[in-house]
Amino acid sequence: MYLPDPDFVHTFAGNPLDRAQHLRKDDAALSTLRHAKDSQYILFHQLKVATDAQGNLAWLSRARLNSEQLGEAQMSIELGQEVFLGLANGRGHFAVDLILPKHSQVPESLQPIAKFTDCRQAVSCLSQAQGGIVSQARAALDWHQRNPYCAQCGQPTKASRGGQIRHCQSCAKHTFPRTDPVAIMLIQDDAQGDFCLLGKSQGRMAQSNFYSALAGFVDQGESLEEAVRREVMEEAGIRVGQVSYHSSQPWPFPSSLMIGCHGVALNKNIVIDPEEMADVAWCDRPSVLAAIAGENPDLRIPGPGAIAYHLIKAWALKEAATPQP
Ligand SMILES: [Zn+2]
Repeated sequence: MYLPDPDFVHTFAGNPLDRAQHLRKDDAALSTLRHAKDSQYILFHQLKVATDAQGNLAWLSRARLNSEQLGEAQMSIELGQEVFLGLANGRGHFAVDLILPKHSQVPESLQPIAKFTDCRQAVSCLSQAQGGIVSQARAALDWHQRNPYCAQCGQPTKASRGGQIRHCQSCAKHTFPRTDPVAIMLIQDDAQGDFCLLGKSQGRMAQSNFYSALAGFVDQGESLEEAVRREVMEEAGIRVGQVSYHSSQPWPFPSSLMIGCHGVALNKNIVIDPEEMADVAWCDRPSVLAAIAGENPDLRIPGPGAIAYHLIKAWALKEAATPQP
């Protein structure tokens, strides 16, 4: 129905690294790469990413992370989980978790790190490519933190293949990272589509005028289309007929893939689920266009970093993809 241009890429996507599958089972090659002079490390602390004073990613060489360098800081700082992200021009790129004592500052030996920045905030200042790398690294480090034990036998697991999997040394089970699919959908009122369905959740934004597309996790044994129809029925009492795919966005908080759709309603009478939603409303195109321009005091919508913005904009502007040769 509405489509992005083929070269359009969402925030948190667009990671240019070659994930180098061929290296991941080769422990010797990975070890050489880890210690290579030109390999690059990006540090995280409590899932915040290291940035320099200008807000760029503060990449460090392996030499900067050796024990003498860290020891010079005379602080009990440790390197935690390390993940091989991939290659760029043959250079290894890694992410590593830095364990700092409470309330301590970043040691001077780790300049140009100026601070650790929340990843949502950090990507607003980063290039598409660097934002994509942050997305991969944050999701991976978070997954390792959450999976120290084997789901099958309860024994400790160990990272393997450069952090791509975890391996149980007791029962030999391999655990792979998971990505949770979330359906996010903008529903229009009928085939002509002069109105779209926007909602605000219960919680801290319930009293605000901040509205977004409806969304929810895809359930087990459920297709994407079924998830769209079920969520819209549950949250707004609206039946959805046609469902069309628009685009998807990795959302590493902690490990979602937002799958963006448009849909056409079969009825118009909204019945909200008051436990989940504070309000759901049909919004007309002029008021949504004003909200996109930031000029509607009664309606605020998410910014361009979120897929919801692009679903809303595609409907408001009736966007269709430009055919490419
Ligand atoms: Zn096990």
